[in-house]
Amino acid sequence: MTKKVFVEKEQLEEIVKQYPTPFHLYDEKGIRENARKLNAAFAWNKGFKEYFAVKATPTPAILQILKEEGCGVDCSTYTELMMSDALGFKGDEIMFSSNVTPKEDFQLARKLNATINLDDITHIDFLEETAGLPETVSCRFNPGGEFTINNEIMDKPEDAKYGFTRPQLTEGFKKLMAKGVKHFGLHSFLASNNVADEYYPILAGILFQTAVELKEETGADITFINLSGGIGIPYLPEQKAADVAKIGEGVRKAFEEILVPAGLGDVAIYTELGRYMLGPYGCLVATAIHEKHIYKDYIGLDASAVNLLRPAMYGAYHHITVMGKEDQPADHLYDVTGGLCENNDKFAINRMLPKIDIGDLVVIHDTGAHGFSMGYNYNGKLRSAEILLKEDGGTEMIRRAETPADYFATFDFTGLFKDVK
Ligand SMILES: *Cc1c(COP(=O)(O)O)cnc(C)c1O
Repeated sequence: MTKKVFVEKEQLEEIVKQYPTPFHLYDEKGIRENARKLNAAFAWNKGFKEYFAVKATPTPAILQILKEEGCGVDCSTYTELMMSDALGFKGDEIMFSSNVTPKEDFQLARKLNATINLDDITHIDFLEETAGLPETVSCRFNPGGEFTINNEIMDKPEDAKYGFTRPQLTEGFKKLMAKGVKHFGLHSFLASNNVADEYYPILAGILFQTAVELKEETGADITFINLSGGIGIPYLPEQKAADVAKIGEGVRKAFEEILVPAGLGDVAIYTELGRYMLGPYGCLVATAIHEKHIYKDYIGLDASAVNLLRPAMYGAYHHITVMGKEDQPADHLYDVTGGLCENNDKFAINRMLPKIDIGDLVVIHDTGAHGFSMGYNYNGKLRSAEILLKEDGGTEMIRRAETPADYFATFDFTGLFKDVK
């Protein structure tokens, strides 16, 4: 089984003439079609809205495309709020799902009239004192224990730092009501990168049931339920993509069974997907610049963990295609590495690939979300450019590559690097 890159070799060779590798390439057509599929899958819910998790791909041109497809944004920091504001996201188009939140962040969220999703019961007083309480407040639920699908443990919410406990939700809602809050949302994020089509329906069932109980216990007016992020993508070639139409139907079934009979049929469903919205529609394009044969065979790329941290950080699998060699036998065993002075800077370990020659274009798949954005500057390596492959087949640079001057910019007060270009 294999995975296909969204761009052909000849087209990529043209792009590389204009923009030197490494760079992240994004597929506008794929992003738009996928966003439309999500919106269609939840069209049965009249308040449905996807708030794209900005942290996944904080690039203005990408957020703009999603905005045109009807998405809002989910921010968790001051700068993410600033970016969203600059792009014209207004008020209830911005969800603010933060944790360990500095007061300046809450103040900006309130100024922009974003919908605030509180991570903790102590944040009620903190928000009131620092920025004032809005009319609508959402609370993040952590049910604790283990989260299972078909008896398989998906994650352990009891070990996660996020959210209110179940008793804290009741107490928090009552407290917020006493302080004049009029409308409520409920949010939870139980497992990340889940390709099981049951994930959202099971999570929805938990949240819907909790909403019914909270309404009975407190009389709160619950206006939305936020299923957050977590729908996964098939990083591995043998994995199956989530079927979003089926997921939408599963959530609808839970909605009709639990919320409608409780008089909560007007509740809006929100999502905060990141990975699902962008992951497959970005790739990291690199060039093989060295080969090395010692106890193992290595291929060195001009990209490194600075451009894509997931393999080094989590041992995450990212599929690799050697452009133009898709049909050649994968009969060479390689470690594919970057050049950081860290032995975990490897995009692949013991990967069977076709023979790679110096100068080959090597494409690392599924970097559209949590790819560029997790990057860093270790070893003084610079961040790459981001290029958009437009629907009409043209390309546009949507972020330039860093230069040494960017790297030294935070020493501008010293005068040491003022002549650096
Ligand atoms: C990271 C995050 C998301 C997006 O998660 P994905 O796995 O990319 O879908 C959504 N909501 C919150 C609060 C997050 O922290």
